[in-house]
Amino acid sequence: MDIKVFLLSLIEQLKKAELDPIQLSDNKEIKKLHNELYFLSLTNNSSKLHPNNIQNFLLLMQKEIGRWGIFSKIELEEEGIPEDLTILDDYIGISEEADYFYANCNSSFDEVSQIIEDVLIYCRNTQLQNEYVSFRKFLIKNPISSRRDITRVQIQNQFDPFLCQTLEKCYEEIPKEAEYSCQTCGWTLIKKANRYVCGKKTCREDFNLQSLTQNKIEISKHLRVKKPILLSVVIPGIPELDFASELENVGIDVELYPNLERLGDLKATYNSSNYYIDMKDYSDYRDLVSYLIEEKNRIKTPYIVISESKTNLRKNRTPQYVKKVNKKLEDEGITHFKLYSCSEMKNLITKGV
Ligand SMILES: [Zn+2]
Repeated sequence: MDIKVFLLSLIEQLKKAELDPIQLSDNKEIKKLHNELYFLSLTNNSSKLHPNNIQNFLLLMQKEIGRWGIFSKIELEEEGIPEDLTILDDYIGISEEADYFYANCNSSFDEVSQIIEDVLIYCRNTQLQNEYVSFRKFLIKNPISSRRDITRVQIQNQFDPFLCQTLEKCYEEIPKEAEYSCQTCGWTLIKKANRYVCGKKTCREDFNLQSLTQNKIEISKHLRVKKPILLSVVIPGIPELDFASELENVGIDVELYPNLERLGDLKATYNSSNYYIDMKDYSDYRDLVSYLIEEKNRIKTPYIVISESKTNLRKNRTPQYVKKVNKKLEDEGITHFKLYSCSEMKNLITKGV
């Protein structure tokens, strides 16, 4: 069995379906995939939870794939499937990891993500620092927009034809059924089983249904960024802009994406000292550690800051997170950079401690 193909069709079908057990048991495609998984679990003794009915099948979808007892560690590794992949968050939606997994295996996702890489390369070749910052900032601040707003930013920043066209390619028409926008990331909400959910897991937890009416999408706004732009530019960009304004509020000068991102995400200047900062957003500290160790020779900024913002709910756990990462870096003998929380970084710049 090709596990990847199986998972992709499973995610695709579940995405389309209302995740209601009664409706699901009538869904032919899902039934087929469910049966396939059930027979596989019968031939595998290590499976503790047999998906013998639709409820157990849905329960299994909420467990990490490595713990399904159906696919071995080696099989998963060979196919490049993370052991901790869960398909559903709960009964209401596809998990964020499953969404990433699906999008990453899908070539149109790569194509759209490539757009922003191309913009960076283009701006580096033509030395368009200000244009690059405006381009990126516009996307982050306008996950929902209109043709008129796009034209305005193109004119204001005197974008050349390449940047004009590329900015337009980042947007798509908002589907008719989308009525509200997410209070956290600003993208369109999807209605599922009578609840409104955002594509991003942490946004869902932050959700306030009562004030939803205040987030009705204005009629004039008919465009939204494509999903890969949401995931690769908007969501990581929100904490960067939040932190930048937090620093500016205490009198620190901030430059975004210094030297076209060659020197990190932010350059903070205070009392004529410069601080080049790279911001990272990994929900699991172990993933950040592996990234930092792997990239240690390429990391030039001494300050790595873990983002804290409304797009993640890490705030209370940050001190522990930072401690664990720095301990691992110390053990590896890495001394040319360190991880800081946002508040630690702010204190370091203003007070030197
Ligand atoms: Zn959201």
